Amino acid sequence: MARNLEPQCRQCRREGLKLYLKGDRCYTEKCGITRKPTAPGQHGTSRRKVSEYGMQLREKQKVRRVYGVLEKQFENYFEIAEKMKGITGENLLQLLERRLDNVVFRMGFASSRAQARQYVRHGHITINGKKVDIPSYITNAGEVIGVRQRSASEVVHFKELREGTGRAVVPWLQVDYDKLEGTLAALPSREDIDIEIQEQLIVEFYSR
Ligand code: SF4
Repeated sequence: MARNLEPQCRQCRREGLKLYLKGDRCYTEKCGITRKPTAPGQHGTSRRKVSEYGMQLREKQKVRRVYGVLEKQFENYFEIAEKMKGITGENLLQLLERRLDNVVFRMGFASSRAQARQYVRHGHITINGKKVDIPSYITNAGEVIGVRQRSASEVVHFKELREGTGRAVVPWLQVDYDKLEGTLAALPSREDIDIEIQEQLIVEFYSR
């Protein structure tokens, strides 16, 4: 399966902000962009005026990197978002938020989306009690996302999760850590998505 092999901290440095791709490490002094805040490459320190196209491109790349989605798949999401009722940019973000790997991350079952994606691929995650190993699966309101029973008792990470406390979970998800499962109480709205994104720039990028 194709995936983005570019080093994660390099991606943050390219976008000039923290994308939180490495989980716990992103909150420490070891964060790559804290240690070296310039863009990668030999021209990383030079200041250039960014064109309108450049701004649109960077916004699109930023969102793509945050959710770990490849170019073609991102285009597909945009096409679906365009056909949906409502505002295209918001539809796009909502679709990305509803991806199963993102929901697992948002529920606090993984420390990063990359880790969540791995848990899904390895068959640790269920939807309504059935194993689903497709990270791009688009979840729906009312669905119950959980950790497979065997994984919950055998995988150290999940055993530790049960014992932890005080996790902040987004309002559209209800999580029961004793059962290691959560429900999509509602679909996420634009206000629920806390990443600094100007989605209108992405719409303009694809409308050129
Ligand atoms: Fe980005 Fe810092 Fe996390 Fe590296 S450690 S992925 S630079 S936020």
